[in-house]
Amino acid sequence: MKIVEEYKPLVIENGIKLNGNECFYNIGQDVLGEFFSKLKNIEFNRYPDSDSNLLKEKYAEYVGVNKGNIIVENGSDEAIGLIISAYIQKGKKVLTLNPDFSMYDFYVSSNEGELIKLACNEDGSYSVDDVIALGKKEKVDLIIFSNPNNPTGFAVEENKIKKILESFKDIIVVVDEAYIEFYGKSVIKEITNYENLLVTRTLSKAFGGASLRVGFLVGNERLIEKLNKFKVPYNVNTLSQTFGEVLIEKKEKMKFLRDLVIEERERVFIELKNIERKINGKIKFYPSNANFIFGRGDKLFIEVFKEKDISIRNFNNDTFRITIGSREENDYMLKVLKECMMP
Ligand code: PMP
Repeated sequence: MKIVEEYKPLVIENGIKLNGNECFYNIGQDVLGEFFSKLKNIEFNRYPDSDSNLLKEKYAEYVGVNKGNIIVENGSDEAIGLIISAYIQKGKKVLTLNPDFSMYDFYVSSNEGELIKLACNEDGSYSVDDVIALGKKEKVDLIIFSNPNNPTGFAVEENKIKKILESFKDIIVVVDEAYIEFYGKSVIKEITNYENLLVTRTLSKAFGGASLRVGFLVGNERLIEKLNKFKVPYNVNTLSQTFGEVLIEKKEKMKFLRDLVIEERERVFIELKNIERKINGKIKFYPSNANFIFGRGDKLFIEVFKEKDISIRNFNNDTFRITIGSREENDYMLKVLKECMMP
């Protein structure tokens, strides 16, 4: 049997969930009403549209590409799995960052490939020249990284991503844009200029549709045609396709709520930096381009968070990640942190 890096999601029944980078707001009544009105037309006895055509059309319009540039997937997890299983087998190498999204480990190890990681700086930043140098030295077969990065929130500029694409014209470069709505500077439009670029996207984050499992793989038409052969038929169920269509139709609402998250992220960041200063840097917090904040240092407060039913993502070193919640949730988290670190 193959050995894989298991991904263990945290199951939380109650309490404040600041661990999963989800949106704190649930679908509103207007979106729900729209969805319910579409339910009566669903043929529940039939398999879904295997290619999610209508959803694909709507997403293509939203991101400004053609339908032929997109594969609709069961979450961007499935999109990442499809890419890695298409290109990686035993003996192949994948370059990513450390830290980056842990599912890259899962898919690379289940396809018996080797993951090469470039260590990021303390604040999550990294040099693209170092990415290129390591990729060349190791003769990697694929490059994948999230931008903005999960868990650091650091984002690298478009011209630097282009430098990677230029340096590795013969291999696929995957830019995982799960959190792009919180950053705003996508490289999707570059798919017409770079045949080696693939971008993954999701409805799980800014769109607030994590329960649906809808993701997208976006790339040059010829590449997408080839990758389509690896897609599981009927992968996205009809309910998720329909709900996804409604979420995209209501994108103005997503943008409004996304702006609230960004505003809240900046407010929480200022508060966290005040705490950092008062405790002489025992914990450090870093600026973020996503819907979470990355920190490192003394993690004694994690036990107190657990007692107070606040869940955050705790990594196996001195780092952690706090998702932005509602204003009330964030205030409670900040109050508990203050009480614990500045008794
Ligand atoms: N990429 C990154 C960087 C993520 O953080 C996540 C979710 N945690 C995903 C992809 C997967 O998202 P989904 O499968 O829900 O689309």
